[in-house]
Amino acid sequence: MFKLGILGGGQLGKMLAQAARKLEFPVEVSIYDTSDYACAREDADRFHRGSFEDIEAIQRFAKDLDIITYEFENIPVEVVASLSHAIQGSEALRILQNRLLEKEFIDSLPGIPCVPHAQVGPGFSMDYPFIVKTAQFGYDGKGQYLIKDADDLSHVKNDMVAERYFPTLTEYSMVIARSIDGTTTHYPTFENVHVDQILDTTRFATIDKGLEEQLFEKAKNIAQALDYIGVLTVEYFFTDGKLYVNEVAPRVHNSGHITLDAANISQFDLHLYSLLGITYPEITIDPDWCMVNVLGQHYMAVKGKSLPGKFYDYGKHSTTINRKVGHINGKLQYLDLLKKAREE
Ligand code: ADP
Ligand code: MG
Repeated sequence: MFKLGILGGGQLGKMLAQAARKLEFPVEVSIYDTSDYACAREDADRFHRGSFEDIEAIQRFAKDLDIITYEFENIPVEVVASLSHAIQGSEALRILQNRLLEKEFIDSLPGIPCVPHAQVGPGFSMDYPFIVKTAQFGYDGKGQYLIKDADDLSHVKNDMVAERYFPTLTEYSMVIARSIDGTTTHYPTFENVHVDQILDTTRFATIDKGLEEQLFEKAKNIAQALDYIGVLTVEYFFTDGKLYVNEVAPRVHNSGHITLDAANISQFDLHLYSLLGITYPEITIDPDWCMVNVLGQHYMAVKGKSLPGKFYDYGKHSTTINRKVGHINGKLQYLDLLKKAREE
């Protein structure tokens, strides 16, 4: 029996576990998470609760497993580096866990640059409006402040990363996969709308082929330079006719959930194919799909409602406001209906 271990038991771990069940050979899935209530637990054969700081506990967890993967990037680098069968690698974590290192790295590679930025510290100044982000542990806009004028400066702390704020922008993501033999593949570009800095909806972008090629090339350069194996996502901003990299996630991504229905192979399958060295099929998609996120505050309205789409309920233990508890994939023509269905 092939033994897969997943560090992290959130919705991404859950959907990876579900994808592992669909492989052509039997897989035993072990999941490690800090919470007994991790939503992926019900999809695992074995579950271990422990801290991500506890390197010995993780090594014990990993001992008899064939391959280890992670579903989120805030695992200590030394933990992943100590696991030879965590083939996704630790270099991506080392660089991408820190927004400043991440941006320097991205700008050192050819192709699309990062949003103009600077580290907050002595002598720092930037024209308003700008946005500050904590260098580490941010997600869904947490640890970020928009600095409109001098009144907001109390939020600006040393070592934060400040970057130019774009009041209007189009957001894209490029989800690519790189296999153990170095082969890469990718989905068409996704166009994402965020509300309050949290992803709200995803659809396929109608984008010029030349632009899409640039998005793919940059993402490929990033994955290659990190010697990264698996699915990797690059978030882009497009504004005033210019492209910028926003950030990179060394994992499956919320925008890629659309591939569960819109593609012949989902991002979760593709991640496992990459780690296992299974040949990628040619990716085909039906662009007529969209994805709508369901947050804690939407859950009661969506649950049990008859929807023109498919509700993926993550089975979260609690429905906290502004936390993702599910998503709906549906046909693009129902996008507005699906968004509305989240209201009571
Ligand atoms: P997170 O790690 O929380 O996803 P991001 O840096 O991707 O952090 O920011 C979340 C969202 O906030 C972005 O997708 C975008 O909608 C908005 N945002 C972040 N940085 C900027 C910026 N410089 N200008 C305009 N909007 C931004
Ligand atoms: Mg982001």
